[in-house]
Amino acid sequence: MKLPVYLDYNASTPADPAVVAYMLPFFSEYFGNASSKTHKYGWIAEQAVETAREQVASLINAEPAEIVFTSGATEAINLALQGVFRAYHSKGRHIIISTAEHKAVLDTCAYLEKQGAEISLLPVDRLGKAYPEELKKLVRSDTILVAVMHGNNETGTLQHLKPLSDIAHSVKAVFMSDTTQSCGKVTVDVNEFGIDLCCVSAHKIYGPKGTGALYVRRKNPRVALSPVMFGGGHEKGLRSGTLNVAGIAGLGKAAEIAASGLWEYGTEMSRLRTLLEQQICDNDFCFINGSVKDRLPNTTSITFPGIRAEQLIARLPDYAFSTGSACTSASDEPSHVLLAMGLSDAEARATIRLSLGKKNTTEEILAAAAAIRGAVSQLRSKA
Ligand SMILES: *Cc1c(COP(=O)(O)O)cnc(C)c1O
Repeated sequence: MKLPVYLDYNASTPADPAVVAYMLPFFSEYFGNASSKTHKYGWIAEQAVETAREQVASLINAEPAEIVFTSGATEAINLALQGVFRAYHSKGRHIIISTAEHKAVLDTCAYLEKQGAEISLLPVDRLGKAYPEELKKLVRSDTILVAVMHGNNETGTLQHLKPLSDIAHSVKAVFMSDTTQSCGKVTVDVNEFGIDLCCVSAHKIYGPKGTGALYVRRKNPRVALSPVMFGGGHEKGLRSGTLNVAGIAGLGKAAEIAASGLWEYGTEMSRLRTLLEQQICDNDFCFINGSVKDRLPNTTSITFPGIRAEQLIARLPDYAFSTGSACTSASDEPSHVLLAMGLSDAEARATIRLSLGKKNTTEEILAAAAAIRGAVSQLRSKA
């Protein structure tokens, strides 16, 4: 067993060797600029980008022309939120987001608020679920955008998006969903879910870091966006800048592999997670956060009342996992997602996230569960 055991796949995943092999020729051999229209170097690069566009579109049941390549999900989210805010100014300035959103959404909306946007927060319940009845109370004729994430990065809770997107569309608002964690783990279908904007990040689906995509609906309705980046008019003017051909090719390959293995992935992750939860949690030793019914198959958020998650992590250097999300564990704040779900400050600080992935084995899961249980008991006996 290789130490430390990696149990933080929602923070990032290792690139699949098949993805790396597929990317390599695009660094030195086929290094052309995908915008060079006058020679073969450019054509080969462009072909690689267009193949990736089809592969990414296919993962979410979109059309290739609806995919805009970016540097990742954070950039895609910025383009979506800032782009809608500027393009829909004449309709209004009201934006609704759920309280369990990722920092990329929260921080961008905080910025837009300074630019004159009015932000309303859609609450979530104890399981992290957002409800159509609550959204109905918030939508208005000047609402331009509703954003509710699909799979939560900390708890794994999955939202039923269609009832929410229907309400957004009833006031002609754009419906956005941060699908960074759900793409490649469970089915994401932009048509079935009524999604107008959503995002993919390669490094969350066994592809390279620094590459992602934004889905932008082109019909029923066609979404208008103002660009954030200018210079050259790449990606239909929505994202200027020379395309990262190797990264985009890797994203496409990763999307293709994820799409073809969705069922096997779900089955194996659920098996490992069930084992992990059964081994760690019995009686009132701990409790699991999020919806047990609607959850990403690889994610578990566990609270051990009476301890501090950092102390637990400090005792377990052979296991790589986190308190909340990688994006917030740098700060001292308890998880805003758990607080939004109604956990107390102390409970939120007593919570760890374990997110499993394709390379985890039964042996690793059993060892991790035993180590975590042992360390929790030790911490409690000292208290
Ligand atoms: C990782 C993550 C992001 C940010 O993605 P990057 O590609 O790393 O910028 C956004 N939203 C969620 C839910 C994530 O898990």
